[in-house]
Parts: sequence; structure tokens; C-alpha cells
Amino acid sequence: CGIVAIAGKDEVAGRLVDGLKRLEYRGYDSAGIAVAAEGGVERRRAKGKIVNLQERLTENPLKGLTGIAHTRWATHGAPNETNAHPHMSGSVAIVHNGIIENYRELREDLEGRGRKFESETDSEVIAQLIDAYMEEGKDPVAAFEEALKHFHGAFAIAAIFSNDPELVIGARKGSPLVLGYGEDEMYLGSDAIALAPLTRDVTYLEEGDWVVLRRNSFDIRNVRGERVNRARVTSAVND
Ligand code: GLU
Repeated sequence: CGIVAIAGKDEVAGRLVDGLKRLEYRGYDSAGIAVAAEGGVERRRAKGKIVNLQERLTENPLKGLTGIAHTRWATHGAPNETNAHPHMSGSVAIVHNGIIENYRELREDLEGRGRKFESETDSEVIAQLIDAYMEEGKDPVAAFEEALKHFHGAFAIAAIFSNDPELVIGARKGSPLVLGYGEDEMYLGSDAIALAPLTRDVTYLEEGDWVVLRRNSFDIRNVRGERVNRARVTSAVND
């Protein structure tokens, strides 16, 4: 039950795993990462400890400068590899902490439109709905914003896109999410502890905020879609 994301200038896979290790104290049953590169988005997931994920990555490395990572504490669907995050649909991959309360009705609607789900999680509707809006012609930011309006419940989300491999979008409602500032890099984390090896220069996003980031830019919006400024502070967490 933690999230890390990096819009980076250097390779991210190893650093994402380091961030996840710092979130282990929250408890989890599986872990995974997805990385966007020119060739598309690829993921590795594993049940159990983060070392299992590291073994997968040693056998089958992931290269790329933009990525998302997740430790899962299952609420909907067994703790297995298929239900582990990231979840992917078309050109989007997402990680999610929390619960999408209305996932059943969203899933039925999407299945009614011919979409095939592969997991038992509430979270997969996030990827499927964003992808459905992209299929209608929306760009990633517009698709994410539109999908966000439909999710009820508590969540922190981070997403990456194969058709825009430098982009990360995050959102929070009822679960914490911290934005981190690096040198030519931007980060997201469930807390400042996850980001401590990367930066102590952070913004604690507020309820309903969502943020569009690239390694050299960020744009924070509130629940009404308005651009907002949030305080930038130095986290007290030690590396
Ligand atoms: N509800 C989601 C799931 O069961 C996310 C759980 C979490 O916060 O890790 O996959």
C-alpha cells in the first residue's frame, strides 16, 4: 500500500524499487513496477516480498526514464500476480492505493462496451476508463481528468502512457500523495519517506488535487480543474 513514481533523466527501475522498500513498513502482499520507454510500457510484478520483484527484474530488466511502482495491500481480489499493480489497458498503466467504491458499476459499463478485464481488482477500472477516453480521441491529460470525475472512494493514483513516455499524472483523494522536486526530475510518493533518497524538496498535495508532471515541469490542479499553487517545503525525513 504505497506508490512511487519518477519522471526522470536517468534510469528509474532500480530507484523505484528502492522507494518501495522504504514503504514496506506499511505492509503489503505483492509489488510491481511499470516503465515507459520509446518501445511502449512494460511491467514486472511479483507476489510476496519486494525481493521477488527484484529477482524478476534481474532476470528481465526494465529500461526507461519514466515509471510507476506499487506495493499492494489487497482489498478486492486475491493477493496474486494477476491482481498486483500496475494495471494496464491500451496505452495507459496505473497504480492505485485505496478503494474505488463504485468499481462494480464502472466495470459493468465498460464490459458492456466490449472491454475485457484481466484482474479481480477495483483498481483496473481506472486504467480501463482512462484508456476508453483515449480511444475516443482524448489526450492523456484530458482522459485522466475525465476519468477522475467518475471515481468514488479513497485513492492515490499514478499513471504513465506509452504514447507520451515522459508524462506522469497523479491524483489524490482520501489517500496521501507527495510531489517531489529533483534536479531535472520530478517524483511522486505516498509519503516523504519514500522520496527521501531522491529529494527532501516536496509539496504535500491537498485533497482532490491532481498533478501533471514531466522531468522539467509540473502543473497542479484542484478538483475543479483549476491550476493551483501549493506550498513547497523541506521534508524533515532523514535519508
Ligand atoms: N484496492 C486496490 C486493490 O485491492 C488497492 C489496494 C492498495 O491500496 O494497495 O488492488
